[in-house]
Amino acid sequence: MVQTKKHIVIIGAGFAGLKLARTLNNHPSYRITLIDKNNYHQFQPLLYQVAMANLDASNISFPLRTIFNKSKNVSIRVETVLNINAEANTVQTNECQYRFDFLVLATGAATNYFGNKAIEENTLPMKSTWEALQIRNSLLKYFEDAVSSQTPLAQIPISIVIVGGGPTGVELSGALAEMKRDSLPLEYPELDFTKMKIYLLEGTNRLLINMSEMASKSAKVYLEEMGVIVKTNTFVKGYEHKKVLLQDDSYIHSTFVIWVAGVKGSFPPGLDPNLISKSNQLKTNSYNKVLGSDNIFAIGDISLIESTLFPRGFPQLASVAIDQAKNLAKNFKQLANNKKILPYQYLNKGNMATVGRNKAVVDLAYPTISFQGFFAWVLWMTLHLFLLIGFKNKLIVFINWTYHYFTNRQSLSLLFEQLTRKNKP
Ligand SMILES: Cc1cc2nc3c(=O)[nH]c(=O)nc-3n(C[C@H](O)[C@H](O)[C@H](O)COP(=O)(O)OP(=O)(O)OC[C@H]3O[C@@H](n4cnc5c(N)ncnc54)[C@H](O)[C@@H]3O)c2cc1C
Repeated sequence: MVQTKKHIVIIGAGFAGLKLARTLNNHPSYRITLIDKNNYHQFQPLLYQVAMANLDASNISFPLRTIFNKSKNVSIRVETVLNINAEANTVQTNECQYRFDFLVLATGAATNYFGNKAIEENTLPMKSTWEALQIRNSLLKYFEDAVSSQTPLAQIPISIVIVGGGPTGVELSGALAEMKRDSLPLEYPELDFTKMKIYLLEGTNRLLINMSEMASKSAKVYLEEMGVIVKTNTFVKGYEHKKVLLQDDSYIHSTFVIWVAGVKGSFPPGLDPNLISKSNQLKTNSYNKVLGSDNIFAIGDISLIESTLFPRGFPQLASVAIDQAKNLAKNFKQLANNKKILPYQYLNKGNMATVGRNKAVVDLAYPTISFQGFFAWVLWMTLHLFLLIGFKNKLIVFINWTYHYFTNRQSLSLLFEQLTRKNKP
């Protein structure tokens, strides 16, 4: 008797979707279609280093077909899913329609502009490799134009505002401050970078709100020592005509605004609107099954498992996405053997953020300790190298970091002109 394999369609090859597909690779009971709009996996934690010209985009991206080129059961489709039909068990992409036995949504999150159109249109987001490259190109193009116009930078004061004091904003402003101090004056000796201002604006009363008070304080001290102007309790209302408008109606003149103030879930339409939370995530049970559905799952940033201890769900972190994928893979294997499936158990692995050379903050969960400085920075680098996919990528990133550490120079100040379309001053 020929046994037909169940078809699992996974949308999204980020941390969650990729881990799921890799764990079920060559499983005899399943045929998997992994759909992503990009043909590569992107390592978002190091996007800021692409934006600041420390790393090349290819160092933090990994081609999906290389991962699965020997797979007997995983097919890659580089398509955008446009719609889900839960009743008919189909998904519609820009190319064709797929019928599934099981659907797994692993579509992650998108930048949240909180409905503010002016901010969406005029600021630079950083949620993808493409957007990180746009930030790099916009900055480099600005400096090239300043040199060409033969106007001293004193007469073209540049200020860069970063909105959002979470790990991304802290890492980005720290890297920008190092770029201003070390490599920009060497690469553009015609320009006076002492006039360049870097602001980090945060709406709550402290940076790194999801970390310990000690981590927040240390990050602020580090950034201020590096020349970043940190403003907490500062809400941004808009950004137009190069002015960042604040809640008290004052404004900051700014050449560029980088918006990393929040994310919201992102997934194709078609599912019951009652299952969608305020944060635009999909409500799932502890098995990551979308509520009310038998065969649709959501894992990673898109999934919201509400519990008494975590009423707003688990943190949107790579480690959570990976662990949920591992658990779901285990459950698919259990299902194939008619065995009991197990709920996802959240394990707090702690939190960390880097500010710059020799400077990072770490909150460990077990044992519960917080520390900062050189050792925290080494730990941050080791963990990120470990998480990065592909030995070649790990090696190249390690070489880049070593080069940067000893020379203080950006190794990749490359300007790809045709990419610079948005936010041109
Ligand atoms: C700048 C930045 C820095 C971060 N730093 C850290 C960090 O230091 N540590 C940490 O733990 N976490 C960090 N995070 C969070 C972490 O990256 C996320 O928690 C993680 O990526 C979530 O994984 P995911 O698989 O749910 O989604 P993602 O990794 O975002 O993957 C979603 C995938 O779905 C695809 N997709 C989306 N919609 C569609 C569609 N309609 N059709 C086809 N494909 C689609 C996308 O192309 C993408 O490949 C950071 C995030 C950002 C943005």
